[in-house]
Amino acid sequence: MPADTASGLFQGTPVISRRLLFPGLSLSFLLPSGPASAAPERTPGPRPGNAAPASRLPLVMLDPGHGGKDPGAIGLSGTYEKHVALASAQELRRLLLATKRYRVEMTRGRDTFVALEERVAMARRRQAALFVSLHADALNDSSVRGASVYTLNETASDRQTAALAQRENAADRFGTPNFQGTPPEVARILISLVRQETRVGSTRMARSVVHALGREVPLLPNPSRHASFMVLKAADIPSVLVEMGFMSNRTDEAALRRPGHRAQLASAMLRAIDGYFAAGGERYAG
Ligand SMILES: [Zn+2]
Repeated sequence: MPADTASGLFQGTPVISRRLLFPGLSLSFLLPSGPASAAPERTPGPRPGNAAPASRLPLVMLDPGHGGKDPGAIGLSGTYEKHVALASAQELRRLLLATKRYRVEMTRGRDTFVALEERVAMARRRQAALFVSLHADALNDSSVRGASVYTLNETASDRQTAALAQRENAADRFGTPNFQGTPPEVARILISLVRQETRVGSTRMARSVVHALGREVPLLPNPSRHASFMVLKAADIPSVLVEMGFMSNRTDEAALRRPGHRAQLASAMLRAIDGYFAAGGERYAG
């Protein structure tokens, strides 16, 4: 994508988010410090050779976007986002389990519809240590391509991301019998309940994903962004949403259809998750 297209698309991005997410910039000043911190007690991260009982392994909740009656974005040659998301999550699940350092669950393992709030509720019920939602976006502009990573914030980092959050949140137009009609003020309170440590964990995970993916695939400019994504609203579970590419771009769509490319994405995601937990994660099971 030409640089002028990129700057035009993202001109609404506040300076602060670009600065905070600049690769290599330490975010350690945001971490809770000292014994007075309300942060949960940290336990050492899982490492090779450190044989923890299976029930103590951190649980990674993988969330393949869309499913069932909700196809998600539809690619130029007819690929459904829901299929790409599920295939990618299954590959990542396989890689994560092979390390024997994680437990893994998926919000859906088949082509079924699961409401956004139910995905969050599932992760909370299982006490997931990390929530990773996998998607592939579509835009009217077919020249835009590349992967990007999103975290929850009441204020969108830019107009592009605000619009993306609206598209992803619209999955619930397919029906959310238990949650439909949540008043906006309640939604705002839910957002405000997201704890600082969860935000820090989510931000660290997003940086880890950007770092790992950036070595394998093209990224959007300012690839780490934030907005009010319904599926990232577990108050106590660091959560990221990864858009693996654009179904509306022929190159990205063709790549996402290839198992080899999805395996490459999955192994980059594994490195990102390893990096996140090696640095302490935010919370462990048990
Ligand atoms: Zn999606």
